[in-house]
This record gives sequence, structure tokens and C-alpha cells, in this order.
Amino acid sequence: MKQTDRESYIRELARLGDQTKAIHAGEFPDAVTCASSPNLVMSTTFVVDADTGFSVEEMDENDAWVYTRWGNPTIHQLEEKLAALEDAETAIAFASGMSAVTSLLFHLLKAGDHAVVGDVAYAALSELTNEMIPALGVEISKVDTSDLEAVKGAVKANTRLIYVETPCNPILRLTDISAVAHIAHTAGAKLAVDSTFATPLATKPLQLGADFVIHSLTKYLGGHGDALGGVILGNKPDLALLRKKTAVRLGGTLSPFNAWLILRGLATLPIRMRVHQENALEIARYLEHHPRVKRVIYPGLPSHPQYELAKRQMNNFSGIITFQVENGRETAKRIADRLKIIHYAVSLGHHRSLIFYLHSEDLLQTSFKFSTAKQLDSWNTFAGNGIFRLSTGLENAKDLIQDLEQAME
Ligand SMILES: *Cc1c(COP(=O)(O)O)cnc(C)c1O
Repeated sequence: MKQTDRESYIRELARLGDQTKAIHAGEFPDAVTCASSPNLVMSTTFVVDADTGFSVEEMDENDAWVYTRWGNPTIHQLEEKLAALEDAETAIAFASGMSAVTSLLFHLLKAGDHAVVGDVAYAALSELTNEMIPALGVEISKVDTSDLEAVKGAVKANTRLIYVETPCNPILRLTDISAVAHIAHTAGAKLAVDSTFATPLATKPLQLGADFVIHSLTKYLGGHGDALGGVILGNKPDLALLRKKTAVRLGGTLSPFNAWLILRGLATLPIRMRVHQENALEIARYLEHHPRVKRVIYPGLPSHPQYELAKRQMNNFSGIITFQVENGRETAKRIADRLKIIHYAVSLGHHRSLIFYLHSEDLLQTSFKFSTAKQLDSWNTFAGNGIFRLSTGLENAKDLIQDLEQAME
């Protein structure tokens, strides 16, 4: 596509609805074969002109394809679709969500810098920022980012990054993105938001002031539990540098095959998110009335402690429910054997419902390493001890309720 055609195409895209973008953005009929669906280009290398540079330092975004770690036509289609759905200038896809996270941290932080990171977040991110990143000379403060005073109090002169996850995994506590963006920018720091649980259908962190958005594509965006992937979205100058200086060198490149699978998954994202939310709301209400359930946390329930923020910041409450029962461990053993439809398995955001029990004590010691009584208190008040994380799939809600009913009996 010629550059002028491309610019008008992108202007047009911005006006289209989410479901139209999900199907059409980034995709074009193949110029040679006229194939209507996206091509899968698995080639790692491309035939180039003799004056092509050998170093990525010379790479320009309008260059022809050279080597798949630098860029690839199938991965590029995925990046364009993701950028359109998030209303972002651009995107970089990665081999996994964690690969996106590590590339961002390595790109933005150097020895002597300080970063504020949410104290409850995806376990691998928590573990990475407990030991490995501090060992490189970067100071990390773990903070309950739902507490704005705590975030303000943690910021220092050398703070370069505030990193939050909202809703956070696994307790679905929210962070006010606009308010934290304000704190970050006042301090001259960047704000990165892991929006995996929300998806672009619920929240657009860039519009609320975030500088970077991260998703694990493995979850809702791919949506079918068959491809790992990750993405960072943001503005063009920041991401062009990130790609050239860091992503291409760290080498966490998404397989074009996974890009192709995730492209197909994305085409139905808005439709899927509607059903995830519908099912989750029905099941959350059922669980709230279940005699053996002590507590249900779902951002779409008025009982969520941050329901007002959830309504303001989320256009879709997504499909994840956290709940507590008496004797969590025994219940986990029993339902793992008895569930017929819902899989007892980690991960989330798939078409298939998944449930997993998290032993809080283990998690708090191995992954989160809370250092203050206040953090522990906040966890206990919000989530309590021992939690089930249910990722509501796209099955019929009544079948899922029946499955939970018979398994928990
Ligand atoms: C799964 C997940 C990740 C990591 O993604 P992978 O694709 O498994 O590497 C990061 N953040 C959140 C919130 C997640 O749920």
C-alpha cells in the first residue's frame, strides 16, 4: 500500500467500530495471490538489495523485510491490528507476555534508577523484580498501587518507571490509571500498565495517560489457549527505539505461526468479551448466593470495593472471578476431580473455562515477598486467605453453574 493510501486507511480505521477493526485492521488481500485471509510467512530471511545494511542500527520502519527477528509481514499484520484495537500509534509483538515485560524493563531501566511496581501482580513479574532486576543495580519499591498516597510516597528523584497491573492478578484489585499517570509524569517518570485482564475492550490506558500498555496475548487477545504471545503498545518514537535498541537484541520474537493464530483469535475479540462479561456476571451472582462461598470479587459486582472506579475505568468487566470458600485446599482437591466442563488449570482468557486454587501463604512468601504489615493487611482485607481464580469461558452459563454446583456439593 502506498504511504498516502496507508495514511487515509489509518484515519478511516479510527472511526470504525471495534468489531470492524478486529476483523479488518492490519489485513490486506495478498498483492500476488489476492488471498482474502492473512498470509502466513514463516521465512526467517528475505531476499534484499545489495545496499541493505547488516546492522539493526540502520533499520528504518519503512525498510523492506530483512530478517524475521527485525520484522516479519505476518507479525506486522498482528501489530497493526493490535494498535488499531488499542487506539495506539504502534505496537511490538513478543514471544510471550513476559518477554514483552522484560524487554520494557531492560529498555527503560539502568543501574542507579528506581522503579515503583505494584505489590500484587503476575507472579513472574513479581519474582523478576524481587531479585534479578535489583541485582542489576535498579532499585524497586513494591507498592499497593490502589493506594495513591502510597504511590506518591514511594516516588523518588531517580524514579524512571511506575509499573501497574489493573485489574491485578490474582485478586482483581484496581489501580486508578489517570491518577497514577499524573503522579508518574509529575515525577518525570513513565507509566506502564499491564492491561491483560481488562483488554482494549474494557480500558484504553494510553488515553488515560499511560505511556506503555502491555498485554499477554496468550490470554484474551489470542483467546483460544493455543499460542503464547505478548505485546507492548505506545507512541511511535518510544517504540521505534525500544524495537531497535532492545527488542531485536533480546530476541523474544513471536513465531509468525503464533502471530497468525492470534490474528484469527483477535477477529472475534469484541464478541467474545461481551459473552465473557455476561457469563462472569451471571456466575459471580450465583457464587455470591452460594452457602459455601465466603467472598466473591468481581469488578462488575456492586460488592467490589472499587466498584465506582471499575465503572469509570472499565467498559467491560471481563471474565475473571476470584472467590473464597471454607477449607479451600480440600475444596480444590474435590473440584479438580469432579469438574466435568471447567478445566482445573492455570492461565485465563480462553474460550474454555479454567479454574485454579492459589494458596495465598505460598504466593505471599515465594512470589510477592510482602515486606510490611500494611501490605499483608491490605491483601487480607481485600482477598482473604486462599482463593479460587475462575476464568469464565464462552460455554453456556447454565452449564458452567451446574458444573460448579455438582463439584462443590
Ligand atoms: C499471563 C500474564 C502475563 C505473562 O504472560 P505470558 O504470555 O504467560 O508470558 C503477564 N501479565 C498478566 C496479567 C498475565 O495474566
